[in-house]
Amino acid sequence: MIIAVTKETTPEERRVALTPPAVKKLSELGLRIRIEKDAGLKSGYDDQSYVQAGAEVLKTAADCLEKADFLFKINAPTAEEWNSISENTSIVADFRNATGLDEKIIEKKALSLYALEKMPRISRAQNMDILSSQDNLAGYKAALDAVNRLNRAAPMMTTAAGSVLPIKVLIIGIGVAGLQAIATAKRLGANVSATDVRAETKEQALSLGARFIENSQINEQLKEADIIITAAGSAPKAPVLVKKEQLDNLKKDAIVFDLSGNIENPQHKPNFTTANGTEIIFNPQTAALIPYTASNLFANNISNYFRLLSPDYKIQPQPDFGDEIIAKTCIYYQGKRR
Ligand code: NAD
Repeated sequence: MIIAVTKETTPEERRVALTPPAVKKLSELGLRIRIEKDAGLKSGYDDQSYVQAGAEVLKTAADCLEKADFLFKINAPTAEEWNSISENTSIVADFRNATGLDEKIIEKKALSLYALEKMPRISRAQNMDILSSQDNLAGYKAALDAVNRLNRAAPMMTTAAGSVLPIKVLIIGIGVAGLQAIATAKRLGANVSATDVRAETKEQALSLGARFIENSQINEQLKEADIIITAAGSAPKAPVLVKKEQLDNLKKDAIVFDLSGNIENPQHKPNFTTANGTEIIFNPQTAALIPYTASNLFANNISNYFRLLSPDYKIQPQPDFGDEIIAKTCIYYQGKRR
């Protein structure tokens, strides 16, 4: 069986779907792995490390895709790739931002599509869950990046030259990303408040040392915060929770890191600054800023999923649609929409 991994092509995407440690494990099972030249370069994995792990490195995406049984990608294939994909290929990727999903091509080539973002939130699926692995890293990176951009120090310090008060961080949305953002901001010494609509998140926030605030307190907290991190729901369907007039009332020089699309931003600009000097960063792909780690975890998720999908490593997988994980993630099977 042949698994192809091609280069991600969007400018902000620095991750790769398989990393050398994952390639090694798959090739030890007898699978042939083809990697497009330089596919791992932006993540910190050079072609040589793939070859050492047992992969073949080929010059172009089309070379990798010829007669491949599987295509592993971070993001859905590009228009060019759809044309090069061989008949009967199974494609495993995050299809949330898929453009050019052409049903005619899928049907004509009898392609099977497995959408990792549709992974059910059950304990058996945790090691295949790309939303969890990537959101966790995104929450960490958002807190680090926001602190880095701030014009003041984060922790309380008592020095001979005077005392420094800790910064105030507000986190909206205490899911996977929000929890990691709380943990990271706390480690950096910040004073952290957090809120969520799910009551059970209160205990989780308190256990990490954050203060849980109610909805009615958000406006007051927004005005006092040095950093606001929003992580409520997944972009692009996330609710807008901070409106333009609230942005205008934030602290001068505050930093807002919007992971999910919760800040009113009609033009979906990646970065903008309000009249008051507040810097807003919108990045739903924040995990791609730490591509070495993010790719490694993604590669583990996709390999674990592959082993469930194709336990016998047959030429064509015989997916067990009685399995909730496969039933929910398979969006097309042999050209037909499911
Ligand atoms: P998410 O990205 O969809 O949402 C993030 C958080 O935003 C959630 O806690 C949600 O309640 C909150 N939110 C939504 N609307 C809001 C609003 N208007 N105001 C404030 N907060 C709002 O969720 P997620 O991070 O993917 O995960 C949510 C839960 O699922 C977590 O408890 C997580 O532990 C659990 N989970 C379980 C598994 C598993 O068992 N396999 C995997 C992943 C996540």
